[in-house]
Amino acid sequence: MTYLSTRGAAPQLSFDDVLLTGLAPDGGLYVPEVYPTLDPSVIEGLRGRPYIEVAEVVIRPFSPEGDFHLEDAYRSFAHPAVTPLVQTGAEDFLLELFHGPTLAFKDVAMQWLGPMFSSRLAAAGRRMTIVCATSGDTGGAAIEAMAGRENISICVLHPNEAISNVQRRFMTTVESENVLNLAVEGSFDDCQRLVKEMFAHDAFRQAVSLGAVNSINWARIVAQTVYYVTSSLTLGGEGRLVSYCVPTGNFGDIFAGFVAKQLGAPIGQLIIATNENDILDRTLRTGRYEVTGVVKTQSPSMDIQVSSNFERLIHAASGGDAELVTSLMGALKQSGSFTLPDAVRARMAEDFLSFRVSEEAVSARMSKTFSETAMLVDPHTAVGLEAAAQARVEGLKGPLVTLSTAHPAKFPDAVKTATGREPSLPPGCRDLYSREERFEVIGADLESLEKRISTGFGTAE
Ligand SMILES: *Cc1c(COP(=O)(O)O)cnc(C)c1O
Repeated sequence: MTYLSTRGAAPQLSFDDVLLTGLAPDGGLYVPEVYPTLDPSVIEGLRGRPYIEVAEVVIRPFSPEGDFHLEDAYRSFAHPAVTPLVQTGAEDFLLELFHGPTLAFKDVAMQWLGPMFSSRLAAAGRRMTIVCATSGDTGGAAIEAMAGRENISICVLHPNEAISNVQRRFMTTVESENVLNLAVEGSFDDCQRLVKEMFAHDAFRQAVSLGAVNSINWARIVAQTVYYVTSSLTLGGEGRLVSYCVPTGNFGDIFAGFVAKQLGAPIGQLIIATNENDILDRTLRTGRYEVTGVVKTQSPSMDIQVSSNFERLIHAASGGDAELVTSLMGALKQSGSFTLPDAVRARMAEDFLSFRVSEEAVSARMSKTFSETAMLVDPHTAVGLEAAAQARVEGLKGPLVTLSTAHPAKFPDAVKTATGREPSLPPGCRDLYSREERFEVIGADLESLEKRISTGFGTAE
């Protein structure tokens, strides 16, 4: 399997190279040359098998070589099913993706990237300094996955005093010599800009061997494909298709559903659930992708301006037209918008539906879910549940799975305001509030940042 850039002007790479590369040098995202399929009998044979066995078979076509270290990756999950299904209605289900160490679905991919990075770097005799900017969940998941790994250092930038207590503590209470937490005096956009500038600074990039784990990393998509396969086989098959409603930000999670459908899993509609940051809902409905400002919501992990992974769908839905992707992304950079060709939008509409959920509807859905089922759900999951309800009103039939992307205790304030109940942390992390925090506050300028990272991590306070 070789991988090429969605913009068609970068060298083709193997899976292991793509794993360690991130963004393609032409600014595009890596995608497989051909989306793999599994034989129907192989797919059927996976029904009811343990998560790790399914993962082994699902990941293999994307990376024909090497050990995947799956036991090592998923040992840290608090539930033996890794991603258990819970029934909430006659044909309605929640897929709980929050049983990893930082209580959000990003752990599912990140816990796998940890051992994969370690083994592939060791084989190549390399080490790497991972730098990432976070507005909340990614940083914690990345630190938890990379802490204590010999050939990796990780530095996470978060906007000082602008993330929630729980989110910050998941990052800053990890005691490890290879972890550096920096609280940047600025916004999340400043953090992201600084990371981009570091990557563009060749001398620094090479000196510290800079690496990335952001959501455009192809391996993260592959890891997320697995739970679509396990759950669709549990509920569907033999002509019965399972639809998915996915709380969406950067379009990584739902794109994994699209990849699972290409593999041959019994998947019907993929429903994009957005909060008030609704660029994808508008695009699906009108064909026009247009950047407006970001608004702050109760579901901060979906507060995005552009949805990076959507570029992969444009590439796939246009039959791999790299020239089209390049010109649309050029227009986006120039003028902040582009319009999808009709044929491309029609192709997307075969697989995707979309709904936008207002802040009031998110709160109402958390409250309604609690009063009807006694379950507390986090605000991201509530966006999904509300979109799923709207899809039912519009006539969607058959089994429908909403992805539950975070544990309610990760967003206690929003949950308490909507339901009057304080969600409690699961047993494994009850000491989160008593553990000592380690982070340094730093100005939002490249020079001091690069100096701090070059100084080494062991001395971090
Ligand atoms: C990251 C995240 C999302 C959005 O996922 P994408 O892959 O960016 O679409 C939704 N919910 C939670 C809790 C997240 O952390």
